[in-house]
Amino acid sequence: MRFCRFGDGRLGVVEGTTLRDVTAALDVLPAYRYPLPSHDPFIANLAQVTARAKLLLASAPAVPAASVPLLSPVANPGKLIAAPVNYQKHLEEVKSDKEINAGNPAHSITIHSAGLFLKANSSLVGPGEGVAVRKPDRRTDHEVELAFVIGREARNVSKRDALSYIAGYTIGLDITIRGSEDRSFRKSPDSYSVLGPWLVTADEIPDPGGLDLQVAVNGTQRQKSNTRYLILGVPELVELASSFYTLYPGDVIFTGTPEGVSPIQPGDEIVASIDRIGSMTVAVRTAEGADAALTGAAATART
Ligand code: MN
Repeated sequence: MRFCRFGDGRLGVVEGTTLRDVTAALDVLPAYRYPLPSHDPFIANLAQVTARAKLLLASAPAVPAASVPLLSPVANPGKLIAAPVNYQKHLEEVKSDKEINAGNPAHSITIHSAGLFLKANSSLVGPGEGVAVRKPDRRTDHEVELAFVIGREARNVSKRDALSYIAGYTIGLDITIRGSEDRSFRKSPDSYSVLGPWLVTADEIPDPGGLDLQVAVNGTQRQKSNTRYLILGVPELVELASSFYTLYPGDVIFTGTPEGVSPIQPGDEIVASIDRIGSMTVAVRTAEGADAALTGAAATART
């Protein structure tokens, strides 16, 4: 099943080119009061929501999916986890390009040494919200990545059992300012984590290890690879992450980006696609107030 979110907290099921509004399926969610749980309620109750959605589908209002600006399919993840340098050819471009590695040798080590990092939850948007460039005078790159969503609490999970902990898959864009700061800082401005267009439930993707992924900017292909080239695949990432912290339903893991990262700027249109998931279009704009923060020289260069 393909679940999307849109409008004012509405839930949809996408079938082909049609979006059916099944928001009433969220009525099965328990009522929460403070302190709120550490998980995303929709994902934690996905089986119950799915059962109710199936009952609603036949009579659900339908609209063309392409006409609806979509939000992140997960609204309240407990954490956004991301894998750095997890494709060999991307590691090689990081090592060889000073604009990408910012002269920092710590950015050129393998994922086995680097581990994982976290992105701020406040950076999360859906494709319909677009990317707002916060530092127009800094190199800002697209990184297309397979992303997956944890379905049940996971602690010290072996890679053999890992896939059974996954609720579904989605396309991720890990938008990145190049520079010397910690990854968690320069990859966390508002809108720098894009998930969409929808969540494809795990039953539809039995093997996440052979999916083509690509991204185009303004119609020109920039990245193209396959998840078979991941250094740590999806099961290994669940094993590694759950050996350091508990994973909760709704936690998201960005699996890392292949080679071909390149700059984006306001006015660009990003189209990211992954086999068996689909494709999402994301507009790039200037963040409110960002132009005012430019240095005089950079502002002059842009006009
Ligand atoms: Mn990345």
